Amino acid sequence: MEIVNRIPRMQAISRRLRKEGKKIGFVPTMGALHEGHLSLISRARTMSDVVVVSIFVNPIQFGKGEDFDKYPRDLAKDAELVTDRGVDYLFAPNRDEVYPKDYSTYVLVEDLSDKLCGLSRPGHFRGVTTVVMKLLNIVRPNFCFFGQKDGQQAVIIKRMIRDLCVDTEMVVCPIVRDSDGLALSSRNIYLNKEERSAATVLFRALNKGKQLFEEGETEAARIIAAMQQVIEAEPLARIDYVALVDPETLEDVYVLEEDRKVMAAVAVYIGSTRLIDNMIFGEKPTFTYSEEDL
Ligand code: AMP
Repeated sequence: MEIVNRIPRMQAISRRLRKEGKKIGFVPTMGALHEGHLSLISRARTMSDVVVVSIFVNPIQFGKGEDFDKYPRDLAKDAELVTDRGVDYLFAPNRDEVYPKDYSTYVLVEDLSDKLCGLSRPGHFRGVTTVVMKLLNIVRPNFCFFGQKDGQQAVIIKRMIRDLCVDTEMVVCPIVRDSDGLALSSRNIYLNKEERSAATVLFRALNKGKQLFEEGETEAARIIAAMQQVIEAEPLARIDYVALVDPETLEDVYVLEEDRKVMAAVAVYIGSTRLIDNMIFGEKPTFTYSEEDL
C-alpha cells in the first residue's frame, strides 16, 4: 500500500491505472477508521482492480463551534488498520493543497442540502459536495462507495453525480452497527460510558417506528410521535430531528403506503455529541453487524 499526499501524484497514478484498463474503486473518508469504513473497502475490493481510500478531514463541512479541531486524526493507526485489507493507495492530501489561499469554487446541490441535517448544519452539505467532487476529479474512480449511515449525504451525492454527469458509479453500502444496535461512527469515541449506553436510543427509536409501520400504522405523525417518546425517555438525549421522508427526494411523508419505501431519519444529541442514524421502512434491514461483534 502506498500513502499518497500530493494531488498531482494521485492524479498521475489514476491516469496510469485508467490507461492500463484497471477498474478503480474509491472510498472517501475522514479517517478514524472503523468497521463501517472497512465494509466499504471490502465491497470496493470485490468490484475493482485497485482500491483507493482517501482520508481528509474537510474543514469546510464543519460549522462554527463544531468539532473540526477535536475530530480524531491518526493517519498511522488508520494506515495500519487498512494494511492487509486490500487497499492499494491511501490518499491523504493536505489542507493547503486542497484549499489554496484564494480558493473560490463550491458545489451546491440545492434544496436537498437544506433539509434534515442541513437545517441545523447550514453549509455542511455544500462542504461535503465540494470536497467529494474534488476527490472524484482527482481519483477518477469507476466506482465510488458511500455508507447508508449518512443517508442524506448519499442522496445528495447521488444527485450531484447525476446532475454533473460525473463518470463514476456510486454504490451505497449498508449501515454497520455494534451488537447493541448503535451505528458505528468516528464520533462515538466522544461518548463516555453513560452516554455510550444512552446512544442506543437512536436505534431503539428507529425500531419502534419500524414496528409500528409493520403493524400497519399509516399516519407518519403517529409514528414520529412514538419515536420521539422513546428518545425523550432517555435523560441524556436531546432531539434535533425525527423525520419520515421519501428516500429519493427527502420530502416529508405524511401517509405511509404499503409499496412505498420511507426513510426514517433521526439526529439526536447525546450530551454534546450529535449522532445520526436512519432506517428504510419497507425493505429488508439495511444494516449489518460489525465483524468484531460476530
Ligand atoms: P466519514 O469518515 O464519517 O466521513 O465516513 C466515510 C464513509 O463511511 C461515508 O460514506 C459514511 O457513510 C461511511 N460510514 C460511516 N460509518 C458507517 C457505518 N457505520 N456503516 C456503513 N458506512 C459507514
